[in-house]
Order: sequence, then C-alpha cells, then structure tokens
Amino acid sequence: MNAMHRTSMGNDADPINILLADLQMGLIDGYMGLTMATELSDVLFGTPKPIRSFANLATIKPEYVNIAVHGHNPLLSEKIVEWADKLNEKAKSLGAKGINIVGICCTGNEVLMRHGIPLAGNEFQAELAIVTGALDAMVVDYQCIWPILADVASCYHTKLITTMPFVKIPGAMHLEYSPEKADEVAKQVIETALEAYTRRDPSRVYIPDGAEEIIAGFSVEALLEVLKKINSDDPLKPLIDNIVNGNIFGVVAIVGCPNPKTRRLAFTERMIKGLLKNNVLVIVTGCIAHIAGQAGFLNPNKVDSFEVGNGLKQVLKALGNVAGLNSLPVAIHMGSCVDNSRIGVLLKALSERLGLKVSDLPVVASAPELISEKAISIGTWALALGVTVHVCPPPRVLGGPKVREVLTKELKSITGGEAYVECDPELAVKGILDRIRQKRIALNLPVPEAVVI
Ligand code: SF4
Repeated sequence: MNAMHRTSMGNDADPINILLADLQMGLIDGYMGLTMATELSDVLFGTPKPIRSFANLATIKPEYVNIAVHGHNPLLSEKIVEWADKLNEKAKSLGAKGINIVGICCTGNEVLMRHGIPLAGNEFQAELAIVTGALDAMVVDYQCIWPILADVASCYHTKLITTMPFVKIPGAMHLEYSPEKADEVAKQVIETALEAYTRRDPSRVYIPDGAEEIIAGFSVEALLEVLKKINSDDPLKPLIDNIVNGNIFGVVAIVGCPNPKTRRLAFTERMIKGLLKNNVLVIVTGCIAHIAGQAGFLNPNKVDSFEVGNGLKQVLKALGNVAGLNSLPVAIHMGSCVDNSRIGVLLKALSERLGLKVSDLPVVASAPELISEKAISIGTWALALGVTVHVCPPPRVLGGPKVREVLTKELKSITGGEAYVECDPELAVKGILDRIRQKRIALNLPVPEAVVI
C-alpha cells in the first residue's frame, strides 16, 4: 500500500522521504520476497549442492527433443524435468535419442542448481535458442520473456508455451499452470514438444559448437560443507583467514541482467577478468551467471586459463581439492536472481561471526548490465544492508542533484551503503578495488601495493 501511494500521482514530494521508503521496500523485497522464495524453494525441491553441467547454445542437441524452460518460477520447471524423464521412451519411439531440457535465464538457473540442467542462454539469447532450428518447445512462466519470441517461433516448428494467467503472448500456445494441475500441464508441455519434433526441418538446424563445462549449485550450505572439511567447529574461519591475510583481497557479487548496450562491450567478462587479477573472489547469479558460464569462468578446469592472482588461485585450488575437484571455478555460481538472497545470508553469517557491520566488510555488489526493475529492487536491498553497489547503465534517478547526493554520498552515514555508477569496465574494476582497499585499511588489513588492471 505504502509503495503504491509513493508511485502514484500527487503524493510524496520529498526526495529524502521517498528514498527512505525505497530502502524500506528494498528490505521488504529482500527478506519477504527473495529470501522467503529461496527458503521455500529449498524446502520444496532441496538445497543446491555443487553440480556439473554445460553452458551455451551447444547444449541444444540435434538428435534430441529439445525443450527450453524460461522465466523465473521453479514450480512448473521442476515438474517438466520430472515428466521429461517419464516420457523419454516416447521420444525414442519418434526416432529421437531422448528428451533434452535446457534452461534460459533464471528458470534455467533454478533447474541447473538442483538438477544440473544445462544453461542454453541468458534472457538476451532466448531468440537464438529458437533460431537453432532444433528447439521443439519453449515453455515460459514470468518475467524477462520478450513478446517477439512468438514471432520468432512462428518462423520455425517451435511451440512457444505460456503458462501463467498474467503472461499471455499473441501467437503463443497457453497452457495455464496451477499447483493442482502441475502434472497435467507438465505432461501436456512435453507432449506438445514431442509433436513439434515430428515437424522439425533438419535442413534448418544450425547449432554452434562447443558446450562449455560448468559447475554450479553453491548454496551457502554447500559452501559451508566444503569449509567444514577444513574447520568443522568454525567453518567460516578458513574463508576469513584468507581474507585477512590478503589471499582474497575482497568479495564481489556480480549479479543481474545482460544489457544489449553493455553486451557489445563484454562488460561483465572484462570486469571479472580485472577482479580476478586482483585476488577478488567473484560470486555470480542470474543472467550474469550464464555469461560467466559461457566465458569459461564457471569451469573448474580453466582456473589456469585466466590471469588469476596467486593468492586467490591458491585458495580456489585448495578448496577445490577439499571438495573433490581440481579447483573451484574462478566464479562461484550461487543461483538465480532470487538467489541473491543466498549472498545476503552469507553476508549476515560473516558479519555475525566477525562482530562487524555488513558495511565494514570488504565486499561489493555489482549489477554491471542492469535492465530489470527487479535489479533496482535487489540493489536497493543491498544498499539498505550497507553494501556498496556498482551499477551500469546509470539509474534514471541520478538527474536529481539531491537524489544523486544521497545515493552516492550521504547514504554511507545512514546504512553504510553507497551507489557507485561507472560505465567503463576497467574503471569500474578500479573503483571497486579502491572501495575494497578503503575497507581493508579501516580494518587494519594488509593492502597490496598496486592494483593490476
Ligand atoms: S538477471 Fe535480469 S534479465 Fe536475467 S532473468 Fe534476472 S531479471 Fe531477468
């Protein structure tokens, strides 16, 4: 109600009062939205554990019936995974090798985290999955679904299937999901894909080569399990020790969307590379995790392929060995956009263990390519928690001098958070490193001589 009033005509006109309400809404969304959704998903479907899979369009396989799950809600996609298994023999009877489920955007991340379903593409690449000519159905729930997908699908045999009462797209088939009808709808989705497969034109199939190996599933619980193998009484201690001694200079969570304006700059990839050189532990979620996967940052066998600071590399390899891997990958995949809540849980655990405020920790969040209003909401939650939040493109509120002043300066004295806007990837890395350096100095932790860009 409060939020509705504040976004309606003719109400609050005091920028400070409006910004305070934003922080309030950020906290509500962060705890009652994200954290609640993650907790309930874990209760219903299980808490993710490290799991191997693959990323990019090459995960669509020409010899299989291919179904993409797209959107955000794991409720239906969990059932689709289940029914794909049940109807696998039917696919074989049609001449396919079986049914291959692939993920787009955050529904993709949800089923990757718990089942190892491969990531075909981020939200920006959804059309490309159809254009492979080998996608038999794309089933969508809500958010980040381009209406143009129906037009693209109409050029192929692909069935675009909408499933939510508030998401209908002209040209798409609508099979309405409800929890009571979950099995029925999931079965219908698979049967629709099987029928579409019989109409696939092999001469129009073009799938790029080279699926990239990835490892995902790093819930906080899974990370603690690994750390407990080093110190069962105080599992956070090995992580804290390595932050204190500088092997890990700081932690940066790179989250959110792929923006067409920043994709052409490879903004995310350039930032991750810059941070790795400086011993920053990188965490990824959302569509950024797809980008990281496609670039090899989630591949545990590619740690030596990137320029990674010696301290960080040593930690990744040591933890990887403990976890039964060669190494942890250079970026840690913690899940969907909703799973940013997992990062909040980790921050809370670190802050409680150290008796420090979140704003004191050498931690920064970055949404380097944001497009969605949800990213604004999650970023506001992080600001309310006291985290420095880097963003690009500039949010459309910075034209107001008072608002700019509060978000980029005065907020530090209220929550400890700070909005940092920088749209050059290398300068963004430098700005983030400077901010981590300041926090390390304030904590009397060692700081390296110079940053490497
Ligand atoms: S990261 Fe952004 S684009 Fe991707 S699913 Fe989440 S909100 Fe949508």
